[in-house]
Amino acid sequence: MSACPRKFILAIAVIAIFSGIARSQETPLKSISYRLSMSRPTSHLFEVAITIELPDDSRNKPLLLQMPKWSPGRYAVFDFAKNVQEFRANGPVTRVDDQTWSVDPAGSNTVNVSYKVFGNDLSGTFSQLDERHANYNGGSIFMYVVGHKPDPVKLTIQPPSGWKIVNGRMDHAGQTEWSFPNWDVMIDTPTEIAPDWTQDTFEVNGKKYHVVVHSFGAEGGKRPALVKDIEKIVRAEIAMWGAPEFNEYTFLIHYAADDHSGDGMEHLTSTQIIEPGALGEPGIYEATLGTVSHEFFHVWNVKRLRPEELGPWDFTRPLRTRGLWVAEGFTNYYGHLMLRRAGIWSDKKFLESESQTITRIESAQGSRLMSAEESSLSAPFIDDAPHAQIVNLDNTAISYYPKGELIGMVMDLLVRGRTKNRLSLDDVMRRMYDEFYLKSANNSYYLRGRGYQTEDLERVVSQLSGTDFTDFFKRYVRSVEVLPYEEAFGYAGLRLVKTQAEQPFDAGLSIEFEDGTAVIENVRTGSVAEDAGLQTNDEILSLAGREVTKAWLKTLARYKAGDSVAITVKRDRRTIKTSIVLKEPERFEYRIEEKPEVTLEQRNLRNAWLKGTRI
Ligand SMILES: [Zn+2]
Ligand SMILES: [Zn+2]
Repeated sequence: MSACPRKFILAIAVIAIFSGIARSQETPLKSISYRLSMSRPTSHLFEVAITIELPDDSRNKPLLLQMPKWSPGRYAVFDFAKNVQEFRANGPVTRVDDQTWSVDPAGSNTVNVSYKVFGNDLSGTFSQLDERHANYNGGSIFMYVVGHKPDPVKLTIQPPSGWKIVNGRMDHAGQTEWSFPNWDVMIDTPTEIAPDWTQDTFEVNGKKYHVVVHSFGAEGGKRPALVKDIEKIVRAEIAMWGAPEFNEYTFLIHYAADDHSGDGMEHLTSTQIIEPGALGEPGIYEATLGTVSHEFFHVWNVKRLRPEELGPWDFTRPLRTRGLWVAEGFTNYYGHLMLRRAGIWSDKKFLESESQTITRIESAQGSRLMSAEESSLSAPFIDDAPHAQIVNLDNTAISYYPKGELIGMVMDLLVRGRTKNRLSLDDVMRRMYDEFYLKSANNSYYLRGRGYQTEDLERVVSQLSGTDFTDFFKRYVRSVEVLPYEEAFGYAGLRLVKTQAEQPFDAGLSIEFEDGTAVIENVRTGSVAEDAGLQTNDEILSLAGREVTKAWLKTLARYKAGDSVAITVKRDRRTIKTSIVLKEPERFEYRIEEKPEVTLEQRNLRNAWLKGTRI
C-alpha cells in the first residue's frame, strides 16, 4: 500500500521547479530509516533509532531533528518532546529548543540517532506501551528531520516475542518493514502490536475492510453483529461519496475497560477508535458505531478533501485554519445522518439527536460570542486542550463540532428546498471532492489535490443551489446569528419547537461530581449564581439546606422566580454561606417535530434527505 518512492522524487523535482514554497526544501537525503523497538514494555518506553544517510555535500552541516508540537486530527498543542529522553547520536548533540535537537555529522556520511519516548496513554493522539500491547500514534513518537519531511522513509518494527503487528498499510501478515512516501504518511499510520487482537474482514465492491479489535473486557458475543453494522455504515457512506481511493481500510478498535480512555482519530487508510468500556457493556456497542460513522466519513471529508492548512502541516506552531466547522462539523452531521441511512437509527432517533445538538448550541453563551470560523481558529484552545490557567472558555467559546453540524444540516435543507429537491449538500460535498481532491493539481509533496478555503465552499454551494449563499456565510458562519431553522426545516415539513425544560432553573451553574463531592465546573456570565458570588472550583457543601446530589436540578425546580435558595460552599480554606435569588427560567429544550400539515413535496424531500436516495 505504500507509494513508490521514485514517483515521489519525480514529483518533488517538478514541484521544486514550479513552486516558490518547495524551492526552500532541501535536496533529499540519501535515506532515512526508522527502527522502533520495545524491549521493556512495562517501562512504557518506546525505543526509536533513526539512521540517516547523507549526500556528500551535507556531511558537515548540522542535522536538525524535531518532535511535532501536536499531531493531525487534534489541534491542542501537547508538545510531544516532553516525553523524549536519552537522545543520543554518533556525532555531537546540541539541544536547540523545546522540540529540536541538532546533530553534527562531523564529516560522517551516516548519522545514527536514538532516543526513547515515554507513552502510557491509550488515545488516538498519544501512544501506549505496557505489558498488554503497544499502540502508537506516530506523531507522538517519531521525530522528523527538519527540511526533509517530504523525503521517503523506511520503518522497521521489532515487536516483543509473540506480539503481532497490524495497521492500515499491511501488505502481508507478519509484516515488520514498511516504506512510506514521506514522514507525514508514516505518522498517518497508527499501529497496534499485541499478542491477542482479533481481525474480521468484509468486502464492499472489491475493497477489503478489516475490523481489528483489542478487548480489555468482555465482548458479550457482540463482535459479529458489530462487524455487520460497520459494513452497513461503510455501504451507506460509499453510496453517497462513490468508491473510496484505497484498496484496504482498517478499523483499529480498542475496548479499554478503564472508564476513561475514549477517542476516535481519522487517517488515510485507517482509524483508531477507543471506547472506555467493554464491548459487552450497555451503550458501548452503540457508541462504537457512532464513532465509526464519524471517522469513516473523514476518509473523504478532511483526510482527502481538506482545508488548505490541513496537510502538509507546520508542527512548530499551532494550527490556524477557518475550516474545521466543515472538516469536523459537517462530519459530525453526516456521522449522525449516515447512522439513519444505514438503517441503524430511525428517523425519530436522528431528529432527536439533532434536537439535542440544537438545544446545546442555543443554550450556550458562546454561540452568541464566537462564530464558527473563530471557533476553528481557536481549536488549539478548545480541542481537548489542557489549561493550567483558569479560563472562561465555557462561557465564551463554542465547539466547531456541534456548531458545524447544525450549519451543515441547515445548509443541506436550504439547498434541497431551494432546488426543489434536485440537489443537496451531498452534491456540494461531491463537487468539492472532485474539484479540490481528484482534479486539482497537487500543491504539495504530501497528497493529491489542494486544500480549499471556506470561500471555495461558499462559491460551490452558491453555484450548485443557484442561490447566493454570501449572506448565509456572513451571518451564520462568520458571525453569530441564530441559524434560519424555520426556513430549513419548513422545506421538510418540520418545525423547531422551543419549550421550557421540566426543570427550568440551573442558576447558571454547571456542577461536576468527583469522588462524592460536588464541585462548580462553571458559572455562567451574568447569572444569578454569579450574583451570589459563586465561582468555578467552589465545592458545594449544601444547597437549599441539603446535600447536593446529581438530581440538584430537581431541588431547584421546587422553587419559583423571586425565591431565595441558600447555598454553602468551600473555597480554599473558607466556608462561604450565600443565597441564590432565582429570576426567570433559564433552561429550554428544542425539539424538531412534524408540522400539522405536510405537503407531498415536503414529505418527498424529507425522505430523500433521511434515506439518502439520489435525487
Ligand atoms: Zn491494543
Ligand atoms: Zn472528526
